[in-house]
Amino acid sequence: MGRVLELGRVPFMHWGIVSRYNWSIKLAPLLPRKRWDPLASYAVRPGLRAGYYSYISPVRGSRPSSSKPRDILGSLSRGEDYAVFVTLDTHRVSDPLDLSEPVMMECRGYEAITIINRFPAMVRCLDPEVEEEVLRAVEDEYTKLARGVALISFPTSYAESFVDAGWRNTRAILRSMIEALRYTVESAVRDGYQLIPIYPFFNVGRMAGASQPRLHAQAYVDLNQDGYGAIMDATLKTFASMKGGCHLCESEHEGRVLVEEGRWIAWLSLSPRRNLHVRMALKRHLPDITGLDERDLESLARVLVDTWRALDAVGVAPDRHVVFYTRPHGLDAEFHVFIDILPFEMLGGIEVLDSCRVARYEPRQVARKLREALQSLEPLNSNSYRLRRLGA
Ligand SMILES: [Zn+2]
Repeated sequence: MGRVLELGRVPFMHWGIVSRYNWSIKLAPLLPRKRWDPLASYAVRPGLRAGYYSYISPVRGSRPSSSKPRDILGSLSRGEDYAVFVTLDTHRVSDPLDLSEPVMMECRGYEAITIINRFPAMVRCLDPEVEEEVLRAVEDEYTKLARGVALISFPTSYAESFVDAGWRNTRAILRSMIEALRYTVESAVRDGYQLIPIYPFFNVGRMAGASQPRLHAQAYVDLNQDGYGAIMDATLKTFASMKGGCHLCESEHEGRVLVEEGRWIAWLSLSPRRNLHVRMALKRHLPDITGLDERDLESLARVLVDTWRALDAVGVAPDRHVVFYTRPHGLDAEFHVFIDILPFEMLGGIEVLDSCRVARYEPRQVARKLREALQSLEPLNSNSYRLRRLGA
């Protein structure tokens, strides 16, 4: 195997590439689409929708899967498999919007790496030679070819959770991801994109949708320029309705604060989206996640680790989502970056039927229990401290 995978050998849709070499009209059903639900989406202004949509991406079905998943991210960092590298720590490597060849590269000398997702839900590079035929094959009033960049950020030292990783490696993942997002947004603006929703998140654990066991962040950068989802729309409207004030700048989360450390504060949400929903916010008004600086990221890493330890200590399922809310780039709107930590749970009908949760725990009581659990733990000094889970 060569160290460079020539473009002629890149399979259809791998790394989001559709080119003259891998496209044929027979593959049209496999093209990733972004489809708005005609019963649950609406025009915000001409050309811009909000509400419910689906990314339909059959190529994701070809992701590697087995009962004991192989640590593919580790293989990539050892230079044993192909990847498109975006950032090594904060060093920029390949422009995320450019058509560059996947390479094998040993990069364990770096703390964390960001790559292009090999099995994305969006087309990243569309060869102008086949563009017209591809677009004709999918697009209609509610359906577009899904365009965008899907990033994965992970540490070169193996870890499965923020506690395993420790704050330094957690910070490294965040730094690499944020720099890759800045790089992606700069490239997209250069190419004329004006509205760029950014969705960073961690899926931790198989039940939370992680197909790789190694701790990793993902980010979807949507380049369809056609709008954003129902929750983002609700959040934007909520911030707009605060009329000069900001709930996150003003609220003191009385009695429910779990961790306050440096630049961030984490508390138990009074309207939990899952039981034990922890929400965290930067302690200054910042609308866009790409504006986070070094100290913000170090403080965020510490708060994530401490929150994880507290949830572990009270026996919450280890499968959790961490989702980052940031203003879509290009919108001139009020916003304040915040993050939700959502432990995995089965959902009931009412919770699927509408944006609603029937919670079993009282947030103030839970906050007290989590704080007590956190206080009873040893302070975290070592970078590789591993917490013994209750009942494990
Ligand atoms: Zn604010």
